[in-house]
Amino acid sequence: MTVEELKYRQGWTLEQKIDHAAGAVSVFREKVQGKIYCSVSGGKDSEVMLDITRRFVDKNALAVFCNTGNEYPEVVKFVRQTGNLITVRPDIQIKQIIEKYGFPLISKEQSRYINQAKHTKSEKLLHIRLYGGEKGIGKISERWKFLIDAPFDVSEKCCTYLKRKPFEKFHRESGLFPVIGTMAGESRLRLQKWLKHGCNSFESNMIASYPLSIWTENDVWAYIRRFNLPYSPIYDMGIRRTGCMVCGFGCCVKGDRRFYFLKEHKPKIYSHFMQMKNNGVTYREALRFCGIDFPDAINRQMKIEF
Ligand code: SF4
Repeated sequence: MTVEELKYRQGWTLEQKIDHAAGAVSVFREKVQGKIYCSVSGGKDSEVMLDITRRFVDKNALAVFCNTGNEYPEVVKFVRQTGNLITVRPDIQIKQIIEKYGFPLISKEQSRYINQAKHTKSEKLLHIRLYGGEKGIGKISERWKFLIDAPFDVSEKCCTYLKRKPFEKFHRESGLFPVIGTMAGESRLRLQKWLKHGCNSFESNMIASYPLSIWTENDVWAYIRRFNLPYSPIYDMGIRRTGCMVCGFGCCVKGDRRFYFLKEHKPKIYSHFMQMKNNGVTYREALRFCGIDFPDAINRQMKIEF
């Protein structure tokens, strides 16, 4: 797969994309002898993925939702209305993960790189994280290098413990393989996965179908309108992304309003999360240190002392 191929396919009509998505799930289902489940989050993308799977491929496909305890109540309420649904849960809470591993800040990839640069004993890995490996890959962005010296950790482990492990456990116990509603255009990691595997991955540690890989956000809304699908009311309150309420992945993107939204609509939850600590530093202080635009940001010229 190539980036050009992705761009070309992203230009297909909605009908072509629906056919393609249904085809991808159908091939995947056949390869895994019908043992599939749909991983749903209560967000619009997985809602569309579930609808395509049930409408065109397997009307009895099981839906599985991982309740991390950090989703918007509106999202949890919405997803509970899904028929044939199983809810799984992590056996650890986000507070403990933040205390132990660090805050989920910047991006999954960058937080992992920064954490490794801070704690690795390998000179080679440190060099890659600072200056890049082959073709400059694996490097911490210049913008975030100062976080190596931050008095707190950032980490990608949150998703591992709150989402990946509960789904892995479900897979071990059920023998079912996931259909996941993510898009290649959403992040560099997802793009890299698609470039490597396409819309279905059969690599032993990652057997999964990603039928919406070539879709865009506009396609998802167009599909919702076309089939008059219900969706979580949270979108009509002005939010673009669902997922965990306090996740800091992507919060550094210009114009991101997630924390403003949370403070306005869920002030108690906002305060609760802002007090969570890693290495004695609160989430509020960590966001200030990173220079994130959020309701409690302070003038960037002010010195932040710990
Ligand atoms: S989405 Fe963010 S907050 Fe939620 S589990 Fe993943 S890293 Fe943690």
